[in-house]
Amino acid sequence: MRIAVSACLIAHPYRYNAQDVSSDRVKVLGKDFELVAFCPEVWAGMGVPREPIRFVKSGTGAYLLRSSDGRALYGRIKRVVLEFLKRNPDIKVFILKSKSPSCGIGSAKVYEHLKEEAFSGRTYGVLPRELKRRNVLMVEEDSVADPDFIEALYALKEFYTRKDAASFHRDFRRFLMKVSPYVCSKLANLTSRPNDYEKLLILLLKRWIRLRRLQKGEDKHRK
Ligand code: SF4
Repeated sequence: MRIAVSACLIAHPYRYNAQDVSSDRVKVLGKDFELVAFCPEVWAGMGVPREPIRFVKSGTGAYLLRSSDGRALYGRIKRVVLEFLKRNPDIKVFILKSKSPSCGIGSAKVYEHLKEEAFSGRTYGVLPRELKRRNVLMVEEDSVADPDFIEALYALKEFYTRKDAASFHRDFRRFLMKVSPYVCSKLANLTSRPNDYEKLLILLLKRWIRLRRLQKGEDKHRK
């Protein structure tokens, strides 16, 4: 199973300041999964090192601007994000770097002004904004330490490896019942329709991981 990963989590240099922020926990997943590195900013030709970018508040929304000169960069980064998603329709799991204006999942700061450090909220980066509209599992790097996420990840891997919803459902029924007895019974009726089964399975895992994190108080950045 292929997993898209913010490139800076598994290699460097990618960060704007060329700092190494790679994570051993994420890297170790490469033993069991195919990790596909993607850096929206480097793919957009912004280079390393580069001037940092930030969301700056504007009315009810925010612009994504280069800190040094206020150049708007949202459209440029969004283009490479859409191209990546178009080229990799099979990728259903994304592990993304927190707090980044390109990759952060509700954790990117929204600054009051281009040149000041005061910020008034947090938002989704360019990539997760696109992913929100799709039926995929997306988490930030700290989730890799979460046993619930890891359990969901390996269950999903088993689903794709078997390519047989009926056998998966039979052998993972106990896990699915733990996640949601109601959805488990719905899935039971979809084993002959693998595409529908896959969609509901991902939706279920996505909601479960989010719920578990909220229950454990680990979604502090999200609103
Ligand atoms: S957080 Fe995203 S945009 Fe920033 S260096 Fe990592 S992969 Fe690139």
